[in-house]
Amino acid sequence: MSLILVTGASRGIGAATAVAAAKQGFAVCVNYHSDGDAANGVVRQIEKDGGVAFAGQADISRESEVVRLFSILDNHGPITALVNNAAILERQVRIGDIDEGRLQRLFATNVFGTILCSREAVNRMAVSRGGTGGGIVNVSSAASRIGSPGEYVDYAATKGAIDTFTLGLAKEVARDGIRVNAVRPGMIETDIHARGGDPTRIERLQGTIPMNRPGTADEIAAAILWLLSDAASYVTGSILDVAGGR
Ligand code: NAP
Repeated sequence: MSLILVTGASRGIGAATAVAAAKQGFAVCVNYHSDGDAANGVVRQIEKDGGVAFAGQADISRESEVVRLFSILDNHGPITALVNNAAILERQVRIGDIDEGRLQRLFATNVFGTILCSREAVNRMAVSRGGTGGGIVNVSSAASRIGSPGEYVDYAATKGAIDTFTLGLAKEVARDGIRVNAVRPGMIETDIHARGGDPTRIERLQGTIPMNRPGTADEIAAAILWLLSDAASYVTGSILDVAGGR
């Protein structure tokens, strides 16, 4: 059974991806940071559907915790797929109110976490290191090309870094049998907006979406699973917008 790690899988897009991956036959590591009850709920849902999953606590912004998480994964079989989904948003502010602490938190989770998890996965998947290859999907955001002015230009910049990292890593590890791609979700119905201090954000901005509706976590999960599948066997270094035309 192929093993997949989905970071930040206790809710939202990560949870939907974990459930979808299990339905496609992956054994799933449901990573979470602090909400163990929610992560265990996702594991139970997968098991109820006949799938295999386990929860893996780790703050992916911390290198030692990433290394610990992957050593737990090693007990469950070789990892063949990684979804770098975990990320945080902070309150909407203009540039004048951005401070170092906020930047440290955003870049540590959204960028450092993605790169560190990718390092551990590549070290295990790479054919040149005895692995069997695999797939990585990074969850970026339409914010990387829109820039999120007046909301969170710093968060948008973390996603710009993810896009660039995706392009470079894809080329670096292509001969090692590893495909690396990204999805760029638009406005998706999850808790992230309320946690960023704007629970009515989707309602307020829905009119800016050409399809005139937010996306669902399941719609992003479907794109992620397609990129990991054999149907996308010649796709690498690609960034797929799943944003209702926004
Ligand atoms: P969400 O509902 O806020 O869920 C975030 C998940 O990340 C949670 O499972 C959380 O775990 C986990 N997490 C946060 N910090 C972590 C850390 N340091 N270590 C490990 N896990 C951590 O977010 P979402 O809306 O599903 O977003 C998922 C991804 O899609 C993110 O990369 C986000 O930037 C991107 N995205 C979302 C939208 C949107 O409209 N929702 C749009 C574009 C891009 P705990 O529950 O334990 O805290």
